[in-house]
Amino acid sequence: MIRVAIQSKGRLNEESLALLKSIGINIDEPKRKLVSRSNNFPIEALYLRDDDIPQVVSSGTATLGIVGLNEVVEKELDVEMVARLGFGGCRISLAIPKSEDYDGPQWFNGRKIATSYPVILRRWLNENGINAEVEVITGSVEIAPAAGIADGIFDIVSSGSTLVSNGLKEVEVVFESEAVLIGNRNMDADSRKILDEILFRINSEKESRGKKYILMNLPEASLDKAIEILPAMRSPTVMPLASKGWCSLHSVVNESDLWDKVRALKAIGAEGILVVDLDKIIL
Ligand code: ATP
Ligand code: MG
Repeated sequence: MIRVAIQSKGRLNEESLALLKSIGINIDEPKRKLVSRSNNFPIEALYLRDDDIPQVVSSGTATLGIVGLNEVVEKELDVEMVARLGFGGCRISLAIPKSEDYDGPQWFNGRKIATSYPVILRRWLNENGINAEVEVITGSVEIAPAAGIADGIFDIVSSGSTLVSNGLKEVEVVFESEAVLIGNRNMDADSRKILDEILFRINSEKESRGKKYILMNLPEASLDKAIEILPAMRSPTVMPLASKGWCSLHSVVNESDLWDKVRALKAIGAEGILVVDLDKIIL
C-alpha cells in the first residue's frame, strides 16, 4: 500500500483525481474524509491543503504527492521530483501599477513587493542584484499596491485578468509552474515497485495525448505514397479488403497535423476515412 497526498479542494483536486482515474485507479472523492483507499490498486489518497503536501511527502507520512511545482520550490524541502503532469499550469510574475514606467528589474530597487512566495522571489532578487523589501501576505496579494501596502506584487498569474482589474501590469515572468508528482526520498522497494507501475501507466496516458487513430480504405497502388504521409510508430497496419485492388490502412497521427494528412490522403484516393479517439499508447 502506498499513500499519495492530493489537494483536498482547489484547483488541482479534480485533475489529480482525473489523472488517477485515467490510469485505472478508482478512488472516492474527498467529501469529508481525510483518507480514501482505492478498491482496485494498492494506493490510499490523503486529502490535504496544497501547502502541506511537500512536508508530508518529505517526512514520509505520504510516499507520493501531487502538487504545484511552485509549492515544492517555495517550501525548500528535499523530495524526489518524479514526473511533470501537464496540468495546473501557471506562472508567478512581478506586477506593478500600470501607470508606472518599467525600465527593467532595477525598477524594484528600494521598493516593497507583496507576495505569498518569498523564497522564489528572494532567489530572483538575488540573481538580479536587486535590493527590495519583501512583504509576506497570504491571500489577496493583488490589492496590496492600491491599499498602499506595497509598490508591486509577486503572484500567480494565469489569464492576467485579475491583474488588469486591479490596475496592474505584468512586467517579469519569474517562475513557470505545473502540477508535479513528488516522492519521498527514502521510499522502500515495495513502494518503488508501485510507483514504477503508476509511472508506466502515466506515460502511456501522456503518450496518447494529442494523438488520433486513423483508418481508411485505399487503392493498393497508392500504398507507398500513403506510408510516406503516415509514418506510424513502427509502420502502418495494412489489411486486404474483399474488393480487389483495395486495402485498409490503420495508423496514429498527431491531432495538430490531422487535417493536412487527411487532405493528402484524399488526394491519393483514400476513402471512408475514420478518425478515432485514443485512450492509451503502450510503447
Ligand atoms: P489550499 O486550500 O489547498 O491551500 P490554495 O488556495 O492555496 O489551496 P489553489 O488556488 O487551489 O491553492 O491553487 C493550487 C495550485 O494550482 C497553485 O499552487 C498552482 O500551482 C496551481 N494554479 C494553476 N493556475 C492557478 C491560478 N490561476 N491561480 C492559482 N493557482 C493556480
Ligand atoms: Mg494553499
